[in-house]
Amino acid sequence: MKVFKFGGASVKDAAGVRNVARVLGHFRTDDLLIVVSAMGKTTNALEDVVWAYSEGRDTRGLVDVLREQHHTILGEVAPSDDQARFQLDNMFRALQQVLAQRSSGLVDEDYDHIVAFGELWSTIIVSAFLNTSGFANKWLDARRIIRTDSRFRDARVQWEALSDTCAAHLPTFDPGPKRMVTQGFIGATDKGVTTTLGREGSDFSAAIFAYALECESVTIWKDVPGMFSADPKRFPDTTLLRHISYREAIELSYFGASVIHPRTLQPLQRKSIPLYVRSFIDIDAPGTTVDHNSDNDSLIPSFIVKPAQLLISITPRDLSFVVEENLSGIFWMFAQRNVRIDLMQNSALAFSVVVDDSPRSRGLIEDLRKGYEVRYNDGCELVTVRHYDEATLARLTEGKEVLIEQRSRSTARFVLK
Ligand code: ASP
Ligand code: MG
Repeated sequence: MKVFKFGGASVKDAAGVRNVARVLGHFRTDDLLIVVSAMGKTTNALEDVVWAYSEGRDTRGLVDVLREQHHTILGEVAPSDDQARFQLDNMFRALQQVLAQRSSGLVDEDYDHIVAFGELWSTIIVSAFLNTSGFANKWLDARRIIRTDSRFRDARVQWEALSDTCAAHLPTFDPGPKRMVTQGFIGATDKGVTTTLGREGSDFSAAIFAYALECESVTIWKDVPGMFSADPKRFPDTTLLRHISYREAIELSYFGASVIHPRTLQPLQRKSIPLYVRSFIDIDAPGTTVDHNSDNDSLIPSFIVKPAQLLISITPRDLSFVVEENLSGIFWMFAQRNVRIDLMQNSALAFSVVVDDSPRSRGLIEDLRKGYEVRYNDGCELVTVRHYDEATLARLTEGKEVLIEQRSRSTARFVLK
């Protein structure tokens, strides 16, 4: 079986849904598990519903827009599928029932319950359309397969439960290609409470299913033709990375390359399942292959630029040395506030970190100020260059002030202003 993942951008409207069938047309005889995200910007819209609900505001207008959009798309791609319309109606009714009750006050739990509907709606529509266009398939509720803990909005997968949940809940098939359509991003606790795996988590879901079912490959179909040496939307002369190793892809996504979700690679690496990143527009283009082979990793310098960074420097008020004791307290505060450190540097008297500039980071600065002297620089850029050469570094730092520079054998990192 192959796993295909289609993101929100690939199914944002009726044309996008039809394009999924065009892609599948190249894989008519394959067994496929098709993982689909919420359509277009649905997840953002559902987040607005969550905030309104948790503040006790009226959510009906927001939900009406979403119902209208989804029914319109279903009407365009599968107009005579009464069963799908009924199923979609039911899912909207289920959301309304949630919203009719008072908020539990547990915002993260409410969030997962509400936001998961985006994926449920989109997969009903895609599954229905494929069934009417010659790709018989079964709709699968991912929450029956992906069991997680109850860390809402960032749930951790219970890997050891996968064989049982698959044995109990995978559908059976008539002879012919086995095809399933399921949701990315969502799972459930052992009590059946809906959870999500973190924003943009559908790639990770595809990897979880591939791991559970020992699939032959995962293909992420995107609006770009693969992984590039830099963001092609920002830089003119980028190179397609045709073939890189799991390790390299993990490093690139960790440093902020946004093509694949960082957690996607580990489960694939563990079972040696190759990952392909390909264009859903240009189906014949080769795309990027990620597997164990690292022969090409160091051929092309890749770079990732993270804008809007805060460089924070933390000094004990009594000018004592920054020792393990302070550091453990400082790290604990970062973990409590869920602020991710992108880079750190230590000197005798100051500990410096780079983080995304966000309300959470600003709040953390206020917390830190209770115990430390804290200074910060905003509007910084964090540049990471893998397999750097001097020409690339010169080009990226030109005309900018270098606040921090760190180099290892394979990676150079700069904080620029
Ligand atoms: N729909 C979710 C999001 O927008 C998950 C995903 O797209 O991967 O974050
Ligand atoms: Mg998305």
